[in-house]
Amino acid sequence: MSESPTIVWLRQDLRLADHPALAAAAARGGAVVPVYIWDEAGEGDWPLGGASRWWLHHSLAALDDALQGKGSRLVLRAGRAIEVLRALMAETGATAVYWSRRYEPGSIKRDREVKAALREDGAEVRSFNSALLHEPHTIRNKQGGPFKVFTPFWRHCLAREKEAVTPDLPATLRSPQTWPTCDDLSAWKLLPRRDWADGFSERWRPGENGAHEALAAFADEVINQYSDQRNFPGIRGTSRLSPYLHFGEISPRQIWAAVAALGAERGVFPASKGAQVFLAEVGWREFAYHLLFHFDHTPTHPLRDEFAAFPWRADEDGTLLRAWQNGRTGYPIVDAGMRELWATGWMHNRVRMVVASFLVKHLRLPWQRGAEWFWDTLVDADLASNTLGWQWSAGCGADAAPYFRVFAPVLQGGKFDGDGDYVRRWVPELASLPNKHLHAPWEAPEQVLTAAGVALGRNYPHPIVDHKEARDAALAAYQELRQGG
Ligand code: FAD
Repeated sequence: MSESPTIVWLRQDLRLADHPALAAAAARGGAVVPVYIWDEAGEGDWPLGGASRWWLHHSLAALDDALQGKGSRLVLRAGRAIEVLRALMAETGATAVYWSRRYEPGSIKRDREVKAALREDGAEVRSFNSALLHEPHTIRNKQGGPFKVFTPFWRHCLAREKEAVTPDLPATLRSPQTWPTCDDLSAWKLLPRRDWADGFSERWRPGENGAHEALAAFADEVINQYSDQRNFPGIRGTSRLSPYLHFGEISPRQIWAAVAALGAERGVFPASKGAQVFLAEVGWREFAYHLLFHFDHTPTHPLRDEFAAFPWRADEDGTLLRAWQNGRTGYPIVDAGMRELWATGWMHNRVRMVVASFLVKHLRLPWQRGAEWFWDTLVDADLASNTLGWQWSAGCGADAAPYFRVFAPVLQGGKFDGDGDYVRRWVPELASLPNKHLHAPWEAPEQVLTAAGVALGRNYPHPIVDHKEARDAALAAYQELRQGG
């Protein structure tokens, strides 16, 4: 047992339960000094986007509350991680620093440097897995390389033993003799100056309690219908756990254990087809981390190198990109998705696939522009999952949708939002159109449009591209790429 304090450097592990680093620090014996460091430069090329900052602000406040419940607190400091950690060690007499591992290329580099520097100072440095069921460096295919196809990857993961959930923390965490100074959270200005995030608080409750409420609501009602309902954006058919998972307010181990408990109640694991499909989606998140770790150039470069020469369309004045970002493409399902994203910081997975396909195929704009916009506007913006999602949609990633499969927005709308609830909610100017014309208002007779109060080109745009022409142009561009330009 050590008497000296342990610093726990918190990052994307903003919870108290199933927290191996905090548990190990408490077990070490001395005081525990939990710290969050606002180190923008340390995030490398991907500093937090606007929506993620909103989430982080509220999540840090929630974590501080939870720590106060254990007689502790969250120390906030801005600056370069190594400098802050050294200063805190000097101020508190701490001799150890613990953290949960991260897997983004910039974080890995930074963490390695911090670890080496602290060890040189004589500190005990330990890192833990708190974000994944299986860390990327522990998984290899039969040839000893990384997996590039999901199904064998997930089969391999399913066959491996799962780590148990970490035992709970003691009722109180020991405090240092004096608490180091702490920044004022509001001084970090994480919340937007304008009120664009107002709608976020209606939808979300950042923090560990919010995560468990979301999981409980999902496990009680939705999980068993998940395989049938998860593709319909107009109903609440998915867990909405993604931002909580990203910020580590809940862990995949806890989710796995909760699903296993449901199975135990019914004497089968998983309890239902829905539960099985849901776990496989959590598996896609694991796959995303596996790919990012092994192919660390992919946030900006296609995994399939030949796609680097794709003949994208020039959009010099940014008109097309802006129409897509603002939900004004004239395709209702695309516009509904982009407006849901802006209003709530989240978009349904089916619609993410539709809007991504629209950007890279109908508009022929580079997937990187879409990934950047999502990075700034999603509350669940996650370098691993966002990279996978965009490269999948653009046909240039691992196990991706083939480029020639172009999602037809009108058909997608009709199939997955047949009763129009989703489009009516997010594109209210079309709300009075009958279902038959809702997903293709430009095909509606003039009197139908007039009766519904829709004036194309005035209160709702004409389609910015023609579907058939855009599809043909996308396929021609793909052909050009295959023939080497
Ligand atoms: P559920 O359906 O309830 O799934 C449970 C969990 O599994 C999710 O919370 C998520 O952590 C994980 N998951 C589900 N689907 C995927 C997937 N396809 N890839 C990776 N993990 C998955 N997800 C992010 O978390 N952050 C992103 O930045 C992100 N960007 C995306 C960009 C594009 C273009 C696309 C097509 C998908 C992206 N996704 C991203 C994946 C997916 O859309 C979201 O994880 C999902 O919509 C979150 O909703 P949910 O929590 O209700 O998911």
